[in-house]
Amino acid sequence: MSALLEVEDLTAAYGASQALFGVSLSLGEGRALALMGRNGMGKTTTIACIMRMMAARSGRIAFAGHDLARLPAHRAARLGLGLVPEGRRAFRGLTVRENLIAAARRGEWTLERVYALFPRLEERAQQRSETLSGGEQQMLVIGRALMTNPKLLILDEATEGLAPVVRAEIWSAIRALKAQGQSILVVDKSLRELAEVADDCVVLERGRDVWHGTPAALTGDVAQRFLGV
Ligand code: ATP
Repeated sequence: MSALLEVEDLTAAYGASQALFGVSLSLGEGRALALMGRNGMGKTTTIACIMRMMAARSGRIAFAGHDLARLPAHRAARLGLGLVPEGRRAFRGLTVRENLIAAARRGEWTLERVYALFPRLEERAQQRSETLSGGEQQMLVIGRALMTNPKLLILDEATEGLAPVVRAEIWSAIRALKAQGQSILVVDKSLRELAEVADDCVVLERGRDVWHGTPAALTGDVAQRFLGV
């Protein structure tokens, strides 16, 4: 069976500065893959290439049976890639509910289902998004991504800079999504929380995938060497 997402020998550059030197990874349907590595190792760049926000220089990206490199970016997004980007972004001037409805595409995800996952969003349904707390805005951004009914949800540092209690709430939602069969690609610095949700890990170092394995194997020397923990 072919994987939902297959990245093969991806290279990419910002002008003359090469950021990816050959990244390969594979993510099966219903699985959660953690993309790890220290700052500046190429995680966000890899995601930008998958999302077609950035053109790869070489390599292959296959998603749901399509060769992404051959599709224009807007078509690629419609194939079912849902990104929660680094840093929060909801539409200012819209309420929580309006933000969610604006993102909706046909599928299993509805307002009710997002509210069930994040009850706080239902409590704040009529509130303008710019007046939400940081954690609530992040829940809204995740809710918006889910409303697009993504085949693959991509979370880039979804809990960064948030208070511990809110982080815990968001991680618990991510675990619930995984249990519901959602395929997830997750970038985060918290090894402990990644270990609870990820089936597999890929570690990037200077633009290369240097380690593949399960979270359980990412301990001791390996964690020290690649992640500095
Ligand atoms: P972080 O955890 O800090 O977000 P990352 O693993 O996501 O790190 P990337 O953001 O993908 O790393 O960066 C990979 C390399 O590309 C780094 O050397 C970075 O300086 C460089 N880079 C990233 N964005 C740009 C840009 N817009 N212009 C030039 N170089 C960039």
